[in-house]
Amino acid sequence: MLNFAYQEHIKTYYSDTANIHLEFTNLSQNQTADVCIIGAGFTGLSTALELAEQGKSVIVLDGARVGFGASGRSGGQAINGFEEGIESYIKELGLEKTRKIWDMSLEALDIIQERIKKYNIQCDWQQGYATLALNERRMEELVLSEKVARDIFDYKHSQIWDKNQLKQHLNSDVYCGALYDSLSGHLHPLNYCLGLAKACQDLGVQIYEHSPVVDLDVGTSKITVKTDKATVVAKDVVLATNAYISELSDRIHFGIAKKILPVESFIVATEPLEQNVVDSIINNGMSVCDSNYLLNYYRISADNRLLFGSDSSTNVDMIAKMRSNMLKVFPHLENVKINYGWGGPIDMTLNSAPHFGRIKPNLYFAQGFSGHGVALTGLAGRIISEAICGNDERLAIFEQLKVPSVFGGKLVKKAALFVGVRYYRFLDKFC
Ligand SMILES: Cc1cc2nc3c(=O)[nH]c(=O)nc-3n(C[C@H](O)[C@H](O)[C@H](O)COP(=O)(O)OP(=O)(O)OC[C@H]3O[C@@H](n4cnc5c(N)ncnc54)[C@H](O)[C@@H]3O)c2cc1C
Repeated sequence: MLNFAYQEHIKTYYSDTANIHLEFTNLSQNQTADVCIIGAGFTGLSTALELAEQGKSVIVLDGARVGFGASGRSGGQAINGFEEGIESYIKELGLEKTRKIWDMSLEALDIIQERIKKYNIQCDWQQGYATLALNERRMEELVLSEKVARDIFDYKHSQIWDKNQLKQHLNSDVYCGALYDSLSGHLHPLNYCLGLAKACQDLGVQIYEHSPVVDLDVGTSKITVKTDKATVVAKDVVLATNAYISELSDRIHFGIAKKILPVESFIVATEPLEQNVVDSIINNGMSVCDSNYLLNYYRISADNRLLFGSDSSTNVDMIAKMRSNMLKVFPHLENVKINYGWGGPIDMTLNSAPHFGRIKPNLYFAQGFSGHGVALTGLAGRIISEAICGNDERLAIFEQLKVPSVFGGKLVKKAALFVGVRYYRFLDKFC
């Protein structure tokens, strides 16, 4: 049995502050639908919502709970663009298509705000985000990204801040500057995910929890999706299983698991802080990531906690490690208590390019969001839904992006991750 299956949400700051309580039964009887979606995170629910808005009948199956995966426990930062700077796509796609995917990355942020408004999702959405440079070399990269976005794509929502400008908003001495973006933002990811599920439910989407998919029977006009108790027969199927794809058999993923190298990431949430302490950390409500490969990311929650996350290769004494990372940035928080700590796998690809597409004409997938999934999952849902409804123009652009495979089984992936993490540490220290 898949090892995540049948589990409940892990305990996090988010699970303790969830504002909607939804329970769905497991799939116990055979069903049919236009589309069956495997995975009830942002990707699966966004796709379901778009399809339901188009009048399709949709069934969503999750092996655990709605929002059990990365979507319900992430840093909640919705960031424009892609993990690699947009300039890196021009060579591969040409200018016109790069412009299209840049515009789509901005649409991803609009989608969040549209849905919050349309479905009245209470998830503490707050705009403002900065990428922080830890050294001059990284600062030069940020300056180049801002210039490309402004000069080539006429983007006017970001600004370069030098050390002094950054210090007016973020009280740490470790950074030499930042790229601030006013369109990006952050939210309570579990409440956003539950809000999407509620919107889906209201539009007639059938959601089943505790229903791990164990096999697929792919025909040309229909696919049979099998759980251990019952089946769904659908014209189209979407794999929205994210970093858990490696847990599935080849019969389900047809080899696309080789594109994903899950990187563990951890977050701690402090106790609620007095407003003067909050202002001594970040005083303008923005969320931030530093520009390391193994990065720190943090923000203030709606109830004034510092949510501080870091990518890592180990989960040994994770809370102590996160606390020490936090104190390197904000030494004055020495006496602040940590109330929560949790982690999960981030769906990285080797070159950080998103991996969306089709395995067969009726079998779709979206994965490899590489740290930009809070925003890009909504876009993935929209363009997969467009393709299912007959217009695959935008999905086809993403299908052109080359995503290298990690060859070998789980052991090789572990070894690749081990080497990769050390390689990234080397880059972070010396480059
Ligand atoms: C600690 C952490 C911090 C992060 N911070 C950020 C951030 O700040 N900003 C950002 O953009 N991204 C962040 N990410 C990444 C982001 O959360 C993900 O890219 C995004 O949530 C992916 O959504 P998803 O729906 O594709 O996957 P998930 O939310 O992981 O959903 C996949 C679902 O599939 C289900 N599933 C898997 N296999 C099966 C099966 N066989 N049968 C049935 N169901 C199955 C799982 O139970 C799960 O619910 C973070 C991730 C982590 C773990």
